[in-house]
Amino acid sequence: MAIRSIVKYGEPVLHAPSEPVKNIDGPIVALVNDMVETMYAAPGIGLAAPQIAVPLRVIVIDLSVGEDKGQLIRLLNPEFVEKEGEQTHEEGCLSVPGYGGSPVRPTRVTVKGLDLEGKERVYEGKDLLARAFCHEIDHIDGLLFVDRLSPLKRDLLKRKLKKRVRDQDWEIE
Ligand SMILES: [Zn+2]
Repeated sequence: MAIRSIVKYGEPVLHAPSEPVKNIDGPIVALVNDMVETMYAAPGIGLAAPQIAVPLRVIVIDLSVGEDKGQLIRLLNPEFVEKEGEQTHEEGCLSVPGYGGSPVRPTRVTVKGLDLEGKERVYEGKDLLARAFCHEIDHIDGLLFVDRLSPLKRDLLKRKLKKRVRDQDWEIE
């Protein structure tokens, strides 16, 4: 297992849809293990493969950040089965360090995908887990929380981020 480096806003891989996983082979298992380790090291509660520059539809989530192994979710080719309600909470992103925003998300989601054995898994998430699923599935669709803000907030934040990308300066003040 290895900790991979997390790419930042402005990297093309974060802004384009990722490809489905076709075969669950050794490299995919290794990718998922590295994603989990990278998420815990950050630390973060979720990570999507494009955040480590791999354009595949793979997400990992652990609201306990490794404290409770039962909470680790590893999902290949996740998709929504159902979404309901609305909630608005501040979100951050390991690929947009130092900034936050409050996109509108569903309060409850049902998500299905494949586990590492290729078996279908269905998860229900509400509140924070619903937001985490939405945030990570957005990543594999090439969207960041920034893209889901109101036009005014989005433009303001994008202007600030453009400067960060230009200066290649992601040190958090
Ligand atoms: Zn993110």
